[in-house]
Amino acid sequence: MPKKFDQIIRPEILDLSAYHVPPSVGMVKLDAMENPYSLPKNIGNEIAQLTANVSTNRYPDTNAISLKSTLREAMGIPVEMDIMLGNGSDEIIQIIALAVARPNAVLMSVEPAFAMFRMIATFVGLRYSGVPLKADFSLDIDTMLAAITKYQPAVIFIAYPNNPTGNLFDAEAVSRIIKATPGIVVVDEAYHVFADASFMSSLVQHPNLLLMRTLSKLGLAGLRLGLLIGRPEWLTQFEKLRLPYNVGVMTQIVVEKVLQHPDVLSQQAAAIKAERTVLNECLKRLDGVEVFPTDANFVLLRVNEAHEVFLELKKQGVLIKNLDGSHPLLKNCLRVTVGTPSENRQFLETLQSLITKSIN
Ligand code: PMP
Repeated sequence: MPKKFDQIIRPEILDLSAYHVPPSVGMVKLDAMENPYSLPKNIGNEIAQLTANVSTNRYPDTNAISLKSTLREAMGIPVEMDIMLGNGSDEIIQIIALAVARPNAVLMSVEPAFAMFRMIATFVGLRYSGVPLKADFSLDIDTMLAAITKYQPAVIFIAYPNNPTGNLFDAEAVSRIIKATPGIVVVDEAYHVFADASFMSSLVQHPNLLLMRTLSKLGLAGLRLGLLIGRPEWLTQFEKLRLPYNVGVMTQIVVEKVLQHPDVLSQQAAAIKAERTVLNECLKRLDGVEVFPTDANFVLLRVNEAHEVFLELKKQGVLIKNLDGSHPLLKNCLRVTVGTPSENRQFLETLQSLITKSIN
């Protein structure tokens, strides 16, 4: 008699809920930090020509030599550092976690943070420690340093700017964490293009620092490409866990082509930043809305009855992210991605009508 699934699957996996992606067809989609703009037609045409000639019968270049050298130039990656590519940066988090998962080892992050840090710790059997941020979402450096002393984490993930709060942590405090940590610190710069701050130039100073980037928020989420930047001694080990051919041939050639037109994505990022300012200002003028400072392509806000506001927005065709209930510090919080001017207007008008209704 074969055993039932719940006698075979690990208990901690049985207890997990899968990462939830809600249906969004036909909606104003402001829930996933995507760039709302598509590529210009001339680049689309160049891509169509390139992909028509690709040998899809062959495996991709597993070392992605050409793509890596384009990325190195586009991102100003120091010559001393290696690059590892992932199928999105999610996959890179998983590779690092797998590599350090000795018995009883700890993966540490802050709370609230990107949900996958905790989930992946569970996937690979690491212990997880989430150190709460302060109420204003800044780093609680004393508590963090005490937690490092107590847990001796194998790895700490710090998103810079942080998701879902949107703020950049104090760079000096992050440096103190890097120096105090016996293990590695991965600074996750997923939202770097919207932030004007980076730890790229600090890589050479810290032997235990690794930097992660993604092309998802920049405008290429559908292609799934993330990268890890760091010293060869670390990346050689992680490379052993990267599955062969994890980055497909279409992703490799399309990303390379887009990066040959650097102005396109940087102009889109500039437009998103300008719209972020407008969205922020409009939100601040609404009674009953608390807006948190952001350096990313999304805004965190607090309203009364956030769950109802979220559901009503959804009913009216606007999809954002409800964070109420996900962490005590996020009580009544919602996260909205910066969209096009007309998407943002639709969101703001709907939100305003809901808030006015609930106040009256
Ligand atoms: N890091 C952070 C902080 C994120 O917010 C996200 C996506 N929400 C990721 C990593 C993963 O991005 P991707 O897998 O698309 O590269």
